[in-house]
Amino acid sequence: MTAAPNMHSITADSEKLREAILDYARTRMSYDAVPLDAPATLEYLQTHASNTVNEAGLGGDAALAVFTDVLAPACLSTDHPGYVSFIPTAPTAAATAFDLVVSASSIYGGSWMEGAGAVFAENEVLAWLAAEVGLPDSAGGVFVQGGTLGNLSALVAARHTAQEALSAAGKPRPARWKFVCSAEAHSSLKAAANVMDVDIVKASVGADGRLTGAAVEQALGEAGEGVFAVVATAGTTNFGIVDRLREVGDVAKAHGLWYHIDGAYGLAAILAPETRALFDGTELADSFIVDPHKWLYAPFDACALVYRVPELAKAAHAQHGEYLDTLTDSGEWNPSDYAYNLTRRVRGLPLWFSLATYGVGAYREAIAQNIRVTHEIADIIRANENLRLVREPELSVVVFEREGWQLPDYETWSQRLLESGLGLVVPSSHQGRPNTRFAIINPDTTTELLVKILDSMEQ
Ligand SMILES: *Cc1c(COP(=O)(O)O)cnc(C)c1O
Repeated sequence: MTAAPNMHSITADSEKLREAILDYARTRMSYDAVPLDAPATLEYLQTHASNTVNEAGLGGDAALAVFTDVLAPACLSTDHPGYVSFIPTAPTAAATAFDLVVSASSIYGGSWMEGAGAVFAENEVLAWLAAEVGLPDSAGGVFVQGGTLGNLSALVAARHTAQEALSAAGKPRPARWKFVCSAEAHSSLKAAANVMDVDIVKASVGADGRLTGAAVEQALGEAGEGVFAVVATAGTTNFGIVDRLREVGDVAKAHGLWYHIDGAYGLAAILAPETRALFDGTELADSFIVDPHKWLYAPFDACALVYRVPELAKAAHAQHGEYLDTLTDSGEWNPSDYAYNLTRRVRGLPLWFSLATYGVGAYREAIAQNIRVTHEIADIIRANENLRLVREPELSVVVFEREGWQLPDYETWSQRLLESGLGLVVPSSHQGRPNTRFAIINPDTTTELLVKILDSMEQ
């Protein structure tokens, strides 16, 4: 094929384009506050941004214009202080800017041989997290894409370990493998069970939504054979409730089972002196996860996955292949070996840089401040006769109802709020009753802003 006369070349000097892109990034990173923006319809995007992927290319200026003028405003700014739905993100300035360095550096994060410096720094962060949680110095793991992949990888390691133990004892495989978690555990555990083709044994929780040792004991009694792990949640996504981690861990240990703690959202609060006691018992974990892109002020996407005995994870996850053996057999620390992944971005590096910049103390203070705002707004909601707390907040999630409102009332209000640019607060529900919810992890989310959002319910 001969090149068309005006065809672009991917190796052409693109200095000017690079500067234009960096200028855009600089502008996006220096907003105070960033516009909330809003999703666009498919029709709108088809009209204004179609046919961008074609044989000849648009050229950088035109492509960048499509992004800045059409695509970017059609994406919500999840770091906007009024974005308090789902679990938002609120990366520090250092973490966000350093993510550009990760992008610019083409570091292969799967192996020590290729990425030693970056892998070392990531491991410093994992070792610090392990120490906060109370795992021994020999603990280790890897930053994976998200909590969903972190939970799956931990459970695969747990099952592999149980399988090896059975094989070593000359015992047959159980008819079905199973793990225990609570009814309030995250949907990613169901997804993991589906991928692994294992069953979930749901332990029941009390009115406070907390998993206890007794409930796990009861579930194990009913489960029969084939259980390979018990999963506790350190901060449920809906309510921010921390399970009784020591009780659950003690029961898991007594039964010789792998104990995994899903702390994707809430485990970050172990850093705050005010909430540290809630996490009593984390040191019993065989594995845990926490998502820096949730409450450790790092950009998407990163989940810290840590194992008490990393060798058990390696036995389950290391990939072998002719072209890989030089890496696999090196005896060095290869992050690929510790999760269901091979090629990987050093996605833990923005968090490392941010921690190295500000210090752990700044993180403790930021998390404590989020928790203070949560309690302030909960007090205001409690004092308002039109509002009702669904549960007392424990970490930084507040769930509440507006007296007399049905789902369509929440929907109309939520839509108006988004259009006003003040915030994103979507309807949620509990036990069939509609409600709404603030998840507060952004240092710029103030009580004053949340009061404005509450006031908007009265209009
Ligand atoms: C968010 C969350 C997950 C899933 O994490 P992703 O990073 O979204 O994949 C798992 N467990 C809990 C408790 C969570 O809050």
